[in-house]
Amino acid sequence: LAEARHQAQKMEAIGQLTGGVAHDFNNLLMAITGGLDIALRRVEDERVLRVLRNAAVAAERGGNLTRQLLAFARRNPIAVRPVDANGLVARMVEMLHRTLGGRIEVATRLARELRPVLADETQLELVLLNLAVNARDAMPEGGNLTIETSNLPPGSPAAGLDPGDYVLVTVADTGHGMSAELLEHVFEPFFTTKDVGKGTGLGLSQVYGVMRSLGGAVRIASAPGEGTTVSLFLRVSEAPARGEAAAVSIAPGRRA
Ligand code: ADP
Repeated sequence: LAEARHQAQKMEAIGQLTGGVAHDFNNLLMAITGGLDIALRRVEDERVLRVLRNAAVAAERGGNLTRQLLAFARRNPIAVRPVDANGLVARMVEMLHRTLGGRIEVATRLARELRPVLADETQLELVLLNLAVNARDAMPEGGNLTIETSNLPPGSPAAGLDPGDYVLVTVADTGHGMSAELLEHVFEPFFTTKDVGKGTGLGLSQVYGVMRSLGGAVRIASAPGEGTTVSLFLRVSEAPARGEAAAVSIAPGRRA
């Protein structure tokens, strides 16, 4: 428990720090980009133009990175509401097919009558996207990504979770997996084994932060050569998810 609190505190501190730095840095980048735009229009020397274009590409990448950092620092307003996780997963599948490329099969196994969970839709999408990108990176030769949802039987939360009702969402890949030693560090902000520019090391720490803030949890099972399964435990909402409320109030006998 002390360990978990330590991690949460570290996340909070780093979140605040990166948020502030990213914000100022973004303003500087805007000035740089603006200057480059003007220079690109006035300069005629081909060699100089090439240098300026490279600088513009680097500034663009810098902008992407600061946007990621700002999102990580939770500058965006969060709206926790009852969410239909099945619907959210189903809506994401098409986009995942496109983002992950042809060599990765995306499959879903969605529980019937999945209970609504408490979450911010955008955050939950970001969590699943982070996990999908990690899965892709672990399967350079292709493989399977399977997203599964289920209602956990009452009173059977994972070790360390508060008692209550949970929905389980698992994201499994058939990639290269992780050693126990690596697994120990994956939730640390900025921990990455990927090349510069490919990984920020913020993905899983973001997943960790989001799941904690929702009163849920994330667990990872992985072994080298055996793939990775990430389990997301989401609290069940007593209220119905948006969109279902209307369906409930339809008069008996009428088909929805
Ligand atoms: P990033 O993806 O930017 O490196 P993350 O925090 O998302 O940052 O992940 C940290 C590290 O955990 C990765 O660099 C990788 O070594 C490892 N990792 C994460 N997900 C997986 C996965 N599905 N399979 C194998 N290794 C993974």
